[in-house]
Amino acid sequence: MPILISKDSTFINILRSNLKEHYNSHRRNIDDKIHVSDILWGSCLRKAYYARVIKDYEFTDDDIDNFVRGESSEHVLVDLADIGVGQHELFFEDDLIARPDLLSVSPSDSNEQQQQQQQQQQKNLIVEFKDTKSFERLTPENPKFKGYLRQLLYYLIISGFDAGVLCIRYASNRKLQWIKRDEKGDYFFSPLVNNETGENKLPELETWTVILEKDSDIRELLKDEIRMRVSILRAALNSKNPLELPKVAEEWKCIRCPFLKNCNPLTIEKKDSKKDILDDGKIIVLSS
Ligand code: SF4
Repeated sequence: MPILISKDSTFINILRSNLKEHYNSHRRNIDDKIHVSDILWGSCLRKAYYARVIKDYEFTDDDIDNFVRGESSEHVLVDLADIGVGQHELFFEDDLIARPDLLSVSPSDSNEQQQQQQQQQQKNLIVEFKDTKSFERLTPENPKFKGYLRQLLYYLIISGFDAGVLCIRYASNRKLQWIKRDEKGDYFFSPLVNNETGENKLPELETWTVILEKDSDIRELLKDEIRMRVSILRAALNSKNPLELPKVAEEWKCIRCPFLKNCNPLTIEKKDSKKDILDDGKIIVLSS
């Protein structure tokens, strides 16, 4: 009797339907507070709008993959970092909610007097965990990196803290070398990485320390950005009309958007700006 195998989507359909159930039980309603992830610069305000307004939509395989990778790697990393209490709920003005992970760090030493001093010196850090399928190393100039950084900066502003850690897990640590670009896209070469050590071996985890001083003028710039994005999303939700919401700046994201048909981005003129207010020397990279 031979071994019988056949490609079968039954299991993926079960995952899809369970994800839908999970999503529906956690789904954000029109009147719920706006989350930081809804308004991040670089993400789509229209998508945040449709996710609340449209009751039933089909999840793509990408949605399932992103959910599984994001949830599992965050749980493992939070455990490893010994954060214990997990997410903290914070509010900004009337309508914005944030749930950052908080890490308390103190120097480890057993002397009792020193321990008391250490407790007073204990420092709270916001930690933002990200999981990416990106083949290239994300650098501070990369839009994806900037999106991750933005979320951490928003948390620093909302919490009033001045330091945070961005922890990026690369789901793929294959080394790719860029070859050329043409009208079809970018071409890469993936050399064998077995037995490579040192600088040739790409790490799966990278962490970045981010400092935003409490009296920095940049806090006000980012607060204005947050207020503006919260206010246009709230106005659209209240009026159940997305007309004033811009489409996403990076339009390639629309191809995989579950709301493509509802949104019909080709008919939308308003577009988010690609210009980042944090460019022009506002970010200094000390080491990378
Ligand atoms: S189709 Fe594009 S512009 Fe419309 S909601 Fe989706 S990502 Fe945003």
